[in-house]
This record gives sequence, C-alpha cells and structure tokens, in this order.
Amino acid sequence: MSKLVPSCLIAAVCICAGIALADLGDTEAHQGLPIVSREDSQTTLNGYRLGRYPPREAYPEVYNAPQRFYEVTPKNRTQRISTHFRLEQFLCKQPAGWPRYLALRPELIERLEQIVTVLSQEEIHADSLVIMSGYRTPLYNASLGNVPRSRHIYGDAADLYVDADGDNRMDDLNGDGKLDVEDAVWLARLIESVDSKAAELGLEGGLAAYPPTEAHGGFVHVDTRGFPVRWGKAL
Ligand SMILES: [Zn+2]
Repeated sequence: MSKLVPSCLIAAVCICAGIALADLGDTEAHQGLPIVSREDSQTTLNGYRLGRYPPREAYPEVYNAPQRFYEVTPKNRTQRISTHFRLEQFLCKQPAGWPRYLALRPELIERLEQIVTVLSQEEIHADSLVIMSGYRTPLYNASLGNVPRSRHIYGDAADLYVDADGDNRMDDLNGDGKLDVEDAVWLARLIESVDSKAAELGLEGGLAAYPPTEAHGGFVHVDTRGFPVRWGKAL
C-alpha cells in the first residue's frame, strides 16, 4: 500500500494491490494530483473539450456524469497510480493541449491489478497491461460512433491486451501459434474465472473479447459498472 494515501481515505478506497487512487468523490487531493470539479452544464474544463454527458434518466447511479476529474500535466502524466499502472495510460486519445482531464474510478484500477495477478499465476508476467482505450470524453466517444453511455465516459472501463513480448499486439496467450480472437477469449475467460472474487470486492461489470483487425490486435473490454454484462463473442 502506498504510504502516500492518507489514512482517512483508505476506507473509501479498494486497496489490495498498491492502489494509490482514492474515490474522486472524496474532497481531498491525493498523491499530489490536482482534482477539478465539473458543474453539470460544463462541456469543457479549462479549455479541454469534454462534450455533453447523457442524462442519467432511469439508469443506475453509476451512470451519473463524473463530477471530479484528475488534472493531468506533462509533469504528472507518468505518475504511478498503482503497482502496475500509470496515470497517462488512461488518458483520452483525443488531440488536446495541456492540461488534460481524466475521470478514473479506483475500482477499475483494482480490477486491472487483479488481472495482472491472475496472469502471473498462469506464468504470464507482464509489467503492465496495454490500455488501448481508457477514459473517453463524451465528445471523443461520439466521434468513434460508440453508444452514448459507454462505460469509458464514466472512467471505469478499459480496452486492454497483454503484450509481455513487446510487439505492440496481443500475445499468443492460448499458445496455439495464431494471433486471433481466441487469445482475447482466453484472456476474457481467465478474467471471468476470478469473477466470484470480483463480485465479493464489488468489481463486477462488463467483459467482452474482440477480434484483431488490420488496425490492431485482439483485445478485451473490462469495466466495473457494478453488475455483470457480457457481449460479443460468447465466453
Ligand atoms: Zn471498451
């Protein structure tokens, strides 16, 4: 556990893997990371374009628009936020100057640390996971043609792959000599195998395996919306 997490925040944080993020609902800054609040009507933060969050309507509370964002600068972007992850891995891919703003829920980071742990139990030792897409502003999410209430806009989703051999694409995780959707399915099944533990920790959510395309290798979507959802290739 990081010595930098104030003890008053520990109860509010799921800490079991050196996670140094507190819930953004807390009022205190942590790890020296500046936090900026967003009013409901705001579609930008200090010039950084967020776009418009969809109204929550009948959706559960986790679909409330984030109110608090990390302010990310060239100076703090490489800051470690848990044992295996750094702040900048989760930044939205939209072109922008600095500072940039990031919604990120600690449950996601805990889930990702859980995945690194279960991979190491399978003798797959990765320094981190490659986060293809973490936080997305509603503006960027819309530009991808994605569903408006993607968990990525709420800061608890990641599209990820394992690249322990450093070739910038998903490894041959199932060892069949092919780089195809089955590697993503293998990873999703591995993640699902620890779902009872995830439920216990309040880390349940979406899980889906995606095939490789010309633009990228296979990947897995994970989120921690609080209830299990599966889509895409059957697990
Ligand atoms: Zn995703």
